[in-house]
Amino acid sequence: MRKKIAAANWKMHLNWDEAKELIKQLLDQNPAIPPLHQVIIAVPFPYLGMAAQLISGRSGFAIAAQNCYHKSSGAYTGEVSSSMLASMAIRYCIIGHSERRKYQQETPAQLSEKLQLCFSQAITPIFCCGEPLTIRENGDPCDYVRSQLSDSLFPLTPEQIAQLIIAYEPIWAIGTGKTASSAQAQEMHLAIRNYLTSTYGSVIAEAIPILYGGSVKGNNADAIFTNPDIDGGLVGGASLNAVEFTAIINALPQ
Ligand code: PEP
Repeated sequence: MRKKIAAANWKMHLNWDEAKELIKQLLDQNPAIPPLHQVIIAVPFPYLGMAAQLISGRSGFAIAAQNCYHKSSGAYTGEVSSSMLASMAIRYCIIGHSERRKYQQETPAQLSEKLQLCFSQAITPIFCCGEPLTIRENGDPCDYVRSQLSDSLFPLTPEQIAQLIIAYEPIWAIGTGKTASSAQAQEMHLAIRNYLTSTYGSVIAEAIPILYGGSVKGNNADAIFTNPDIDGGLVGGASLNAVEFTAIINALPQ
C-alpha cells in the first residue's frame, strides 16, 4: 500500500504570527490521519523550527522545506543546505517546483544534485514535474514530463528512487483556479508510473506516491484523489486556510 499524502506548499506567504496561527488552527481542526496517511507542511525557511515545534507529538504531521541548495556547504550567501535541514530534523524537501525552475532558472543537473544531497541526509524529496500550457495544447505532455523524469530522476539508484515522492503539477493549473480534469490527471500519473516501471521495475514504481498539484481545493479533492494512480495532493493556495486544507486531508482515499 502506498502512502496517501496531503502536502501544503505555503510558498512565500504569511508573516510569523500568521504562520503560527495557521498551524494552530490546522491542529485544532484535528483531521483524521490514519497510519498510511501523511500531512506535510512546506513552510518558508525561517519558520521551519517554529513549525516543527508546534507539530511535535502530533502523529501524521511533518514539516518540509520548499527548497535546498545544490551544493553541500560553502560560500553561498543566502542559501540553505540539506545538511542544515537535517540538523533541524526536517525530513522532507520540495525539489524542482515550477516556480523555482522559472524564476531561479533551476536546471535538471542542479535538481539532480539537490536530490543526491537530500538522500545523503535522509531527507525525502518531493520532486515536482509538469508541463506548460503550450505543451498541453500543442505538444505531448506525457513526453515532456518523461523528459523531466529522465533528466533529473533517472540517475538515482533503485534504493534512492524508492524513497521519493513525485508531484505532478501542470504549470497551467498552478494558482490559476484551473485544475486538470480527473481523466487528464490520471492519464499523466499512469504514464509516470509506467515510465518508472520501465526503468526501475513494478515493485518500486508501485510504491512511489505520486501527488497531483494545481488548484486543488476542498471541493475538488475528492474527484481527483479517487483515481488509482493519484496518491494525494501538493496544495498551494488552499493550504493557507485551515478549514479548506483539512477538507483536502479528509478527502485522501482510505
Ligand atoms: C503549488 O504551488 O504547488 C500549487 C499546486 O499551487 P495551487 O494549489 O495554488 O495551484
